[in-house]
Amino acid sequence: MSGFTYKDIYIEDGGRVLEVNILPEKYCNFDCIFCPIGKSQNKVDVQRSFDGYESSLAELDRMIESTKAELVFINSKGEALVNDKIGDIIDFIKGKGLHVRLFSNGYLLGRDEYIRIANKCDEVVGEIKVIKEEDFRKIQRPIEGYTLKEYISNMASFSKQYNGVFIFEITIIKGYNDDEESIQKIKNIIKEISLDKVIIARLEDEVFKKKLGIADERFEEILNELLSL
Ligand code: SF4
Repeated sequence: MSGFTYKDIYIEDGGRVLEVNILPEKYCNFDCIFCPIGKSQNKVDVQRSFDGYESSLAELDRMIESTKAELVFINSKGEALVNDKIGDIIDFIKGKGLHVRLFSNGYLLGRDEYIRIANKCDEVVGEIKVIKEEDFRKIQRPIEGYTLKEYISNMASFSKQYNGVFIFEITIIKGYNDDEESIQKIKNIIKEISLDKVIIARLEDEVFKKKLGIADERFEEILNELLSL
């Protein structure tokens, strides 16, 4: 039985994108209160093996062939870097001549073993969702000992040595980072990390939108301010 799951192939900038999840269930080093996947039963930041790797890889091969994918986007149920085969999966896709994009929440990009893996990818996406230490602990509920300061410096150091395209996604959350002071801090973070591309997002999940979602007008203002940097 395969442990990977897929989204329908889609076109982005004229290229065919195959999005794959390489985790059998949620494994993440955070446990965000607004996580669309649900609560983290497996809060981890070290790699582990999962059953069915060979059959999953064979299925990935078939999916690439049948969809004629040009870019494979590894976007998993949690932190894909904790799958101990992720380096081999990336090598396999690259060996077929395809581009690889990896989505990570970004915290682990400060550790050598994960930097080596992420460096194999053509594109890496990291993110932030809050800009105060107490909010990081309160609503992202990371593994004990994690700090927002370290989180940002991990992505900054990764970005500086990375030769691919580093994409930084910032989610604006009502009451947490939508005021002017927060937007100024976000601007400073964008400068510190030295990015290739910035994506500004907001919570779209219906369950959390009501309480934490940003109104269209304020979101537009924030977009204009951050994207004009
Ligand atoms: S980092 Fe992403 S996957 Fe992990 S708990 Fe938060 S929202 Fe969920």
